[in-house]
Amino acid sequence: MTSNAEVIVVGAGPVGLLLACELAVAGVRVTVLERRAETVPQSRALTMHGRTLEMLALRGVAGRFLARGMPIPSGHFAGLPTRLDFSACDSTYPFTLFIPQSVTEQLLEAWAGELGVDLRRGATVEATGQDEDGVWVGGTQAGSPFRLAARYLVGADGARSLVRRQAGIAFDGLAATKTAMLGDVRLHTPPPGRAISLGNSAGGMMVVPLGGELYRVIVVDAQEIDVPVEVPVTLEGLSAATRRVAGEDFGMHSPEWLSRFSNQTCLAQSYRKGRIFLAGDAAHIHLPAGGQGMNVGMQDAMNLGWKLAGVLRGRADASLLDSYEGERHPVGAALYRNTLAQSALMMDSFDPAGQALRATLSDLMKGPELNATLAHDLSGFGIRYPAALLSGAPEGDGCARWIGRRLPDWPLQHADGTASSLYEHLASGRWLVLQVDGEVQGHYQPALDGAWVNVVTALVPGRAAELDGVAALVVRPDGYVDHAVPLRSSVTSGNPCPAQAVT
Ligand SMILES: Cc1cc2nc3c(=O)[nH]c(=O)nc-3n(C[C@H](O)[C@H](O)[C@H](O)COP(=O)(O)OP(=O)(O)OC[C@H]3O[C@@H](n4cnc5c(N)ncnc54)[C@H](O)[C@@H]3O)c2cc1C
Repeated sequence: MTSNAEVIVVGAGPVGLLLACELAVAGVRVTVLERRAETVPQSRALTMHGRTLEMLALRGVAGRFLARGMPIPSGHFAGLPTRLDFSACDSTYPFTLFIPQSVTEQLLEAWAGELGVDLRRGATVEATGQDEDGVWVGGTQAGSPFRLAARYLVGADGARSLVRRQAGIAFDGLAATKTAMLGDVRLHTPPPGRAISLGNSAGGMMVVPLGGELYRVIVVDAQEIDVPVEVPVTLEGLSAATRRVAGEDFGMHSPEWLSRFSNQTCLAQSYRKGRIFLAGDAAHIHLPAGGQGMNVGMQDAMNLGWKLAGVLRGRADASLLDSYEGERHPVGAALYRNTLAQSALMMDSFDPAGQALRATLSDLMKGPELNATLAHDLSGFGIRYPAALLSGAPEGDGCARWIGRRLPDWPLQHADGTASSLYEHLASGRWLVLQVDGEVQGHYQPALDGAWVNVVTALVPGRAAELDGVAALVVRPDGYVDHAVPLRSSVTSGNPCPAQAVT
């Protein structure tokens, strides 16, 4: 086996696949090594959050996922009765998309194929290493050993990540103390409305329709909460637990998948060691509550992809890669915290005090402010990076508040009467200078290789007050504002430069 890859990605789960696509969009040669010969038919994740959809929209492929999923305007926090309301979020996608992980992976793999990603299935990585100039991996495919080299290596190889262990990166956290059961089963007598979510002193449960007669049943059974995660789930066991919590088992039969999951919660001490990076479950694991692990992992991939591409193409200093851990480790830490809190509320709250805590928090979530805060946290819309990455960003009144903010897919109005949308101008994976004041002559030139930047001049209808005092926004390839250019600064200290062609 040979490869001319610049980046090797271990693992073709949703995170490894998206990272490979993101690298390929930027013209980076990438090889993905996946030990499984076939994709997995069972879907752990069913929820894709709005920010993940925005990231897919940034590259023009969100429509493929929307076509295969179902938007749901609300979500849950710790299975509490008051639902999180995503409908007020400032986004083209103010909802969660119900889409099985197997479909997400199929769509990502198809896109990777279109982009020419070199994906090798049945290739198990067994050893990794690095020196100052590059990385190598060794393993076995179809009984034959292989060894490949590249400039960088990314471990998107899931919770038990070999890449993480061989890089010597600690995976600190808490061992599993509680478990819950999951069954994809058929129901003779599904609950009214086909879905249900309830919690009481016996435990908690959710039923979600998967299509046809198939339903996902998740049960947190107070009586079986200490059963180790390795103990297999039987249909009889799931049925008994469901009856204990819900009073009936909805006539469950013919399971497609039975499994147990735990509240084990760990975060990689570092997301990088030299030329080796971690993303997704390789970097963070937790109770699957609120539909977050895959989403946060896919957003890790979007953060890392353009940075690796920029460095490999000589457009950015290698120090840019430090910002991956700087920006994403705090997101992983927040994920660690909110899922642990949900674990306490879902798996350790069966006594009267716990039930009272659940009821109190559920009542508080009726307040729009707390509800919106949690909705923004879980959806990823609330992520804001703390500092500008580019040096020499001009300062001005009202501009600091733009640093690190995500931008929704704003409609844009151009001087020639045409319209477009913001994300169209980011599809190539380049930076964007969005010049929002039609009066300013010339173009602000950020400290970037000109071939890595698109420049667009447009008005943003309905956002005039928000953009007051701003001449331009310098937008990163992943759709976050690096910095804003204040009106006066753009005239006096901005460097006029010819606009780059927008592709
Ligand atoms: C019950 C349940 C429900 C969930 N629901 C949601 C949800 O609704 N929303 C959400 O966002 N998240 C959810 N999650 C979490 C989500 O499934 C994971 O976060 C996601 O799969 C992580 O993706 P990944 O690509 O990082 O890792 P994985 O999906 O684990 O992929 C890693 C890949 O690496 C491969 N690999 C591993 N080692 C090697 C090796 N040595 N050589 C080659 N290949 C290797 C594996 O075969 C695998 O294909 C849920 C999890 C569970 C358990």
